Amino acid sequence: MRAPDAPASSPQMRSRGSDRVSDRVSDRGSVRSSSESSSDSSSSPSSSPSSSPSSSPLQKKTGAGVLPNFNHSDTSTRSGQNNPFLLSDLLVFLLVVLPVLSYSANRLYNAPDIGVADMFVSLITAYLFVEPASGVLHIVLDNEKFNDWVGLGEVARTFQRHHDRPIEISWRPTAQFFLEPMVPYAVIGGQALYLKNNFAVATLFSLFFTTELMMFAHRWSHMANDRKPYFAKVCQYLGVTMSDAHHHKHHQTYDCNFSICSGWSNPVMNRLVNKLFWDEDDMRWFGVLAVLYFSPTIAGAVRGEIEFLP
Ligand SMILES: [Zn+2]
Ligand SMILES: [Zn+2]
Repeated sequence: MRAPDAPASSPQMRSRGSDRVSDRVSDRGSVRSSSESSSDSSSSPSSSPSSSPSSSPLQKKTGAGVLPNFNHSDTSTRSGQNNPFLLSDLLVFLLVVLPVLSYSANRLYNAPDIGVADMFVSLITAYLFVEPASGVLHIVLDNEKFNDWVGLGEVARTFQRHHDRPIEISWRPTAQFFLEPMVPYAVIGGQALYLKNNFAVATLFSLFFTTELMMFAHRWSHMANDRKPYFAKVCQYLGVTMSDAHHHKHHQTYDCNFSICSGWSNPVMNRLVNKLFWDEDDMRWFGVLAVLYFSPTIAGAVRGEIEFLP
């Protein structure tokens, strides 16, 4: 979710709304010129995945290389930056996430009311949850009004740099990228420690894996097809994770397609953001995020299923 060590946000990235959009559109024009000079036909703005005679069925379906500013053959960025929060993410992984996952796995293994079918349903539930949750988290972290908040601000500022060099995310060291969601997962996954409901624990356990899927779905959407793992291509082809083209629409205007897992929630999210609800700059989205993050605790409290010392 982070774009560490990218160049500092440009002035246009610090402006909002239509000014920012027009600036970024202008940027795409200049990028297009450079990509055109590299004679990459797939980067033509008028081309579509299906218009490329060499496109494979997977390419056609996933829309790789549709937009000129995401020309996957762009050689200007061939290195990903190190995770600036690596040490803290590693510590959280070792000292919080792994113990929580171990506790949950042991509890679920011995739970009489949790079987294989329940674990499968919990995985689907976690998959459905992470999609809109990623959208709300994305809205919050894109919002520069949070940049001065203690803790959140540093993460938001780093996250926003992804807009400057989108393809950089595909070049980050994989192990470090894996650790990037540890803090947000620890916040929600740790709630398993005091929830009595075993299905809730199973869902929070599954959420670790769907969170990683969401993270890598975003990374794959910026990755050149020849570097993309076959598993990623299959996930995109089946719609389990979003296509390149779907996510790249977000990078055109920054006011749509905020959800970054499968993208199924974006038609709804796009209606809510700016139209039926608040715009993406509204700080009340943080409240929505907080409710989503603590929804297991809220549901547990409502149902009287919280137990701090089982
Ligand atoms: Zn964004
Ligand atoms: Zn992106």
